[in-house]
Amino acid sequence: MRQIAVIGSGPAGYYTAEACQKQFGGDVAIDIIDRLPVPYGLIRFGVAPDHQSIKAVSRRYEAVSLSNNVRFAGNVSVGEHVSIAELKELYDAVILATGAPADRPLGIPGDDLPGVIGSAAFVGWYNGHPEFTHLDPPLDIRDVTVIGNGNVALDVGRILAKTPEEFTGSDIVKHAFDALGKSAVKRVTFVGRRGPHQIQMTPKELGELGHLTRAAPFVDPADLPPIEADAALEPGQRKSVNHLRDFAAHPRAAEVEVIFDFFAKPLRVEGDGKVERLIVERTHLTAEGNAEGTGEIYAIDCGMVVSCIGYRTPPIPDVPYDERAGRFANTDGRIADNLYCVGWARRGPTGTIGTNRPDGFMIAETIAADQPAPTPGKKGGAGLDALLGERGVDQVSFEEWQKIEAAENARARDGAPREKFVEVAEMLAARS
Ligand code: NAP
Repeated sequence: MRQIAVIGSGPAGYYTAEACQKQFGGDVAIDIIDRLPVPYGLIRFGVAPDHQSIKAVSRRYEAVSLSNNVRFAGNVSVGEHVSIAELKELYDAVILATGAPADRPLGIPGDDLPGVIGSAAFVGWYNGHPEFTHLDPPLDIRDVTVIGNGNVALDVGRILAKTPEEFTGSDIVKHAFDALGKSAVKRVTFVGRRGPHQIQMTPKELGELGHLTRAAPFVDPADLPPIEADAALEPGQRKSVNHLRDFAAHPRAAEVEVIFDFFAKPLRVEGDGKVERLIVERTHLTAEGNAEGTGEIYAIDCGMVVSCIGYRTPPIPDVPYDERAGRFANTDGRIADNLYCVGWARRGPTGTIGTNRPDGFMIAETIAADQPAPTPGKKGGAGLDALLGERGVDQVSFEEWQKIEAAENARARDGAPREKFVEVAEMLAARS
């Protein structure tokens, strides 16, 4: 029997498990290991709580977990409870599907001031990631600056702009729902170092901004390129730019202003012991499409800066790492003998959830080519259980996760699908 360990239970991990089941038929046993007691990674902790239809894909992952050759081993931290070298001894193949849960650093003076928050932390906070439960972002201020023009920036801006009623049907966690309900924020400014044509926000998500109850988007018509230039854009991008044109053409008074500040490169964060302003430099685009400073400098007053400029994969001891790219060093998913990576840990933090599916199939085929037959004597899950047992690691099984899930569903507030546990101890306690 071929023994495979997948590290990480987000989309990349589950699609890889599914692909390995298809590739190796009945001759495979797969362990999906996660450092948290709860599965689904990005689906649970990254996808916005008001985008429940996207989260529904977890039902497909559940079906994978319920098949008899896949196990979930939660609350097991690779690199801490068990090493990569030990996993390589136990399994024919070890596949890192650890995603990219760390913020790419902003790297400008003042980025360590209280009130400068990375998107991993802010998104983790409103999604109930145990690491960020106690973030307590300053929401008693009027102005928030969100750096970045991608979908994560859009999620953050939208969550800050919504009314409590607009969270009906979402699974935003209670601490965030309560804090946002009392928020004094009246202006959210998206800072993009390039222009409307370079926006990374996708049309469906951008369109939502035009339909918020108490908030309205503002685009300066002067920032928009001549309309004829839109013809060169690919269709999806043209739709996004159409939304921006619509926002520019129809400004409307609103309690919360969501402002697009294009061609603005962050230079430094200033403030006396906490964020008071972001200093930016006006840019223009070079012939290659890069942002180049013009020398014009101005301040955007704000009490919080949320930096949404992309993510990195945290390194794991003894795994070759590409420091510049912020992911594991690999060639088409191969890292070393019987060590592989998939998803954002392989190719960086881009693409939709579905982009990880072909990734999983590619790695299953790669493993089949590298190792036509399993190596005799690999102990797989039984060996892992023995090792973790000796070390007193409190492993969480999929059946136990289902009990946690049932408890979360049972305590949901009206209209919400669940009320997540936001501390590891609470999750563990809900198993019995
Ligand atoms: P992203 O799409 O790569 O956007 C990152 C943004 O940060 C870009 O606008 C980029 O500008 C900007 N940026 C990078 N470095 C910067 C710097 N030093 N200073 C100022 N700006 C900087 O990444 P993301 O928003 O983190 O999203 C990650 C992936 O998840 C994407 O594929 C996204 O579509 C996906 N996602 C999808 C959804 C959804 O609802 N469908 C939700 C969330 C995320 P430049 O373009 O100039 O580099």
